[in-house]
Amino acid sequence: MHKGYEKSKKLFAEAKEYIPGGVNSPVRAFKSVGGDPVFITRGEGSKIYDVDGNEYIDYVQSWGPLILGHRHPKVMAALADCLEIGTSFGAPTELEIKMAQMVTKAVPSMELVRMVNSGTEATMSALRLARGFTKRDKIVKFEGCYHGHADFLLIKAGSGALTMGVPDSLGVPQSVAGNTIVAPYNNIDALRKIFQEQGENIAAVIIEPVVGNMGCVPPKEGFLQDLRSLTAEYGTLLIFDEVMTGFRVGYGGAQGRYDITPDLTTLGKVIGGGLPVGAFGGRRDIMECVAPLGPVYQAGTLSGNPLAMTAGMTNLEILSAPGVYEELESKSAMLADGLAQAAEEAGVSCWFNRVGAMFSCFFTSEPVVDYASATTSDTKKFTAWFWKMLEQGSYFAPSQYEAGFMSLAHSEEDINRTIEAARIAYQTAAQV
Ligand code: PMP
Repeated sequence: MHKGYEKSKKLFAEAKEYIPGGVNSPVRAFKSVGGDPVFITRGEGSKIYDVDGNEYIDYVQSWGPLILGHRHPKVMAALADCLEIGTSFGAPTELEIKMAQMVTKAVPSMELVRMVNSGTEATMSALRLARGFTKRDKIVKFEGCYHGHADFLLIKAGSGALTMGVPDSLGVPQSVAGNTIVAPYNNIDALRKIFQEQGENIAAVIIEPVVGNMGCVPPKEGFLQDLRSLTAEYGTLLIFDEVMTGFRVGYGGAQGRYDITPDLTTLGKVIGGGLPVGAFGGRRDIMECVAPLGPVYQAGTLSGNPLAMTAGMTNLEILSAPGVYEELESKSAMLADGLAQAAEEAGVSCWFNRVGAMFSCFFTSEPVVDYASATTSDTKKFTAWFWKMLEQGSYFAPSQYEAGFMSLAHSEEDINRTIEAARIAYQTAAQV
């Protein structure tokens, strides 16, 4: 029995007195599902617990980083040991070499790698580097992809693929937005047209190789390969933003899964194991342009700090064991298949996308392949489904346009419980 949300509601009211909107990142405010967020007290394995004493099976897992679940014993032990040496030195440590070795081995296109503190920093730095290296100003991003909140990435499409970007946020000057071109995802013809007109001026194309940020949307067969050849033809750098997909859709990320070699890659989430970490890296000749080797400036007081490196490395060590990704795959398939069946039984039209341990259920009958099709979803049905799942103890992202995440800590029993709950929640959605 759910114990209600009374204490969470009280804390949210208090938080709003001191923190804009009561949260330190907007999606946490539950705005798109029209209610108040639950306040979390702790996590353990696949579960989180709120201040009202409710237990939830957690399919957010801090938005991806906790692929081992909450408080994995090995990560906790490694962090406890690390606290003995200190929290930050702002000077080189051997830990940073080990981390760089692990990342470059797992993702061979990253010949050199620089650690930062968030995914936003990683994409912002990779794009500065791409512009510095190519001496071009324009960049292309895809509609519905999110790459953090740097000014030139907070851009949505205008009326058509060929229009210049317009800012998606106040405070982003038009002069900055004007250098960002927005293209539809999974549409190589539209991109080819953009390149025919201005390919010589495009420094980089940045892409989520499997999208997580309009819900989970996989690349169409051949799309990434075509993107690779097109960018190479024009001397434009291809940046895979693998902040979400890195070490999630496979140990080698999406580039390993689809066998594509981008010029630059950004990472985050899983490589930090729940501590603030991001990274960017790629071809040696490009990365050699980064300070102190080259003229593209990039820095960070806490970058590569021992605690973050320790959590990340321990995560990667565990993930490198044989069978881990097979386990994630089969657990994720079990959940997605069970949800699909529950939706069908309730007579709700849903479209399911899944790649490895990331997945989405869109409340639409249309195949979801890009932003336009994602937004055909019935968000009222999603909202009804979301609250009914929460009430029954399954915590999913509070937005139709976010992916769900499976962890190794989820048990078959967790998954079965969630599917049982979904039978009821889809019936609730059917009545909306
Ligand atoms: N890129 C992608 C693909 C992301 O999913 C995110 C965060 N969800 C970011 C970049 C930004 O990362 P951060 O929130 O750590 O700044």
